[in-house]
Amino acid sequence: MNDITFSQLGLSEPLCRALAAEDYTYPTPIQAQAIPRLLEGRDLLGIAQTGTGKTAAFALPILQKLSKPQLPVGARSAHALILAPTRELAIQIGESFRIYGKHTGLRHTVILGGVGQPQQVKAMARGVDILIATPGRLLDLVQQKHVRLQDVKHFVLDEADRMLDMGFIRDVRKIVTMLPRHRQSLLFSATMPNDVAKLAAEMLCDPLRVEVTPQAVTVDRVDQHVHFVETAQKRALLTDLLKDTKLARVIVFTRTKHHANRVSEHLERAGVSNDALHGNKSQNARQRALQRFRSGEARVLVATDIAARGIDVDGVTHVINFELPNEPESYVHRIGRTARAGNAGTAIAFCDASERGFLRDIEKLTRQPLTVVGARPAAHDTPQAKREARRPDPSVYRRRRQWHRGRQRRAA
Ligand code: AMP
Repeated sequence: MNDITFSQLGLSEPLCRALAAEDYTYPTPIQAQAIPRLLEGRDLLGIAQTGTGKTAAFALPILQKLSKPQLPVGARSAHALILAPTRELAIQIGESFRIYGKHTGLRHTVILGGVGQPQQVKAMARGVDILIATPGRLLDLVQQKHVRLQDVKHFVLDEADRMLDMGFIRDVRKIVTMLPRHRQSLLFSATMPNDVAKLAAEMLCDPLRVEVTPQAVTVDRVDQHVHFVETAQKRALLTDLLKDTKLARVIVFTRTKHHANRVSEHLERAGVSNDALHGNKSQNARQRALQRFRSGEARVLVATDIAARGIDVDGVTHVINFELPNEPESYVHRIGRTARAGNAGTAIAFCDASERGFLRDIEKLTRQPLTVVGARPAAHDTPQAKREARRPDPSVYRRRRQWHRGRQRRAA
């Protein structure tokens, strides 16, 4: 955090008042660097994960610029468009605009898939100042002529790398071609794969580049542990760890939806209040799960990567990687759910024999070994090595085959 205040960054009184009510005293580094330049109208390339305060970094300047007197917004139109890859993130961004913009009188709406369309069409009928959307549903509504993008003056593409992972880049490109050429554009991404860099080059004009945490480096404030454990023992280890009340608000990550359901059922049987959150759940079920987790009604959220990235829940004390992700970058995003907004947090990884390679990749990327709880098995001491050691010597199979052949010959 910096010592300068939000008003020194050039933000207006109604915005500063809303921030004060939220107990935001100082801007985060990305806010301090980006806000003054965005107010000047610059384009921006932000390399930042959630948890850095990036939402306010783009929302505040947009709110301020749209608060200045301007032509009223036309029917079915919007003056600012924010694209987000997931429904949860879109809703969260909408909520941020509501909070920061509560004294501005500006209108916003959120358009996303998985819920009914008529209400969204109705919300867009007389136009809004700020439109937050996921790409698929937005394109549907544009094609049905319920939304016009010709009046967009400020465009934000959030979590561009996630858009790429989820296969939305073509939709995003299509949407960008529908926007007016003369506009302010911002692109945020936690990592910068080639396709995202290419999109940024096409979309942005002489952008200011702000990088707040070096690309894919682990959040320093997270205490990271690893348990070496057999696959079959993971569930018992989880319930054992959860006996400690210090694990007050916990996200458990699994690799598949099916595993998330199974872990969730196991916790239910063990009497731990929890919900599963993944892509197969309906939008309502996902919102309900998040709400229960936020309010503390559910102590544990069992999630897959797809559902949990970008989720912003305060006070997550522990992240448990019940299964290690095969992409080390996902590990960084997962553990970034804790230690947010200046708090500390703990990440615990469960690593079975088949995941030792994933762990090596993670430690290589983050350049820091995880603290081992118990002993780190030597290469010959992993459960897999032990299983191999129990397997009979190949010559045993040879002798058995010879014996069988002999028996068949004798029987013939
Ligand atoms: P984001 O990176 O936009 O997802 O924000 C992460 C979290 O930090 C959110 O819970 C915000 O409400 C919070 N936050 C953002 N900016 C500030 C600030 N300047 N001071 C305190 N909290 C903040």
